[in-house]
Amino acid sequence: MSTSAANLTDTYRHKGLRRELLGKLREMGIADERVIDAMDRVPRHYFMDDAFVHFAYDNKAFRIGAGQTISHPYTVARQTELLDLPAGAKVLEIGTGSGYQCAVLTAMGFKVHSIERQKPLYDVTTPFLKKLGYRAHCYYGDGYKGKPAFAPFDGILVTCGAPFIPESLLGQLAIGGRLIIPLDDPSAGEGKQVMTEVRRVEEDTFTKQTHGTFAFVPMLVARSGQTA
Ligand code: SAH
Repeated sequence: MSTSAANLTDTYRHKGLRRELLGKLREMGIADERVIDAMDRVPRHYFMDDAFVHFAYDNKAFRIGAGQTISHPYTVARQTELLDLPAGAKVLEIGTGSGYQCAVLTAMGFKVHSIERQKPLYDVTTPFLKKLGYRAHCYYGDGYKGKPAFAPFDGILVTCGAPFIPESLLGQLAIGGRLIIPLDDPSAGEGKQVMTEVRRVEEDTFTKQTHGTFAFVPMLVARSGQTA
């Protein structure tokens, strides 16, 4: 994230670069204008380390220490679009990371809950989102467990590559709700995932669709002895 006040300024240059990027996302197939509009309102460069801020409007993902990545803009747009939810919906994000995706979900008008497994990231991103005025509920915890106290969720969005579909997340979906999760798959190649949409159509009935190959950092498995 940006640590200098200068980079917390959204100049005309930044806005122009952002519009260009959003034009590219449309060309790549992002069709939901609500998603484009939300991404237009969230200055991505705020969420990048000062050293990388010049790359904020390239269509790229960045690793910025401590396993932190800010997802590729196309990935953020596509996952948000796949949720296909109206404003006011309750959404759980797994992997707060830089907070960028969380900010976009909040800008969509969703009620956002977000879990981060790495304490140093949680400690930095939570106050940063608050400072920028994004009213998301952030938790330090294990995404495999979800957040049962606030279930059911209309949408659950996993932003790290998962080895399997966590049973507990399926149980926390509202009827009609969707889980959007990148799943490790040998067909996708080493370190890549297939974007998977699981819809809870009835209490015990789920449908599954896939949406192409993406690359995410791995969803960490809790170490023994950790309870968070
Ligand atoms: N949504 C983020 C992307 C972050 S990268 C953004 O827009 O910047 C994925 C994040 O998932 C990392 O921060 C990683 O620490 C976190 N993560 C990995 N395993 C996790 C788990 N089991 N539970 C919660 N978060 C996890």
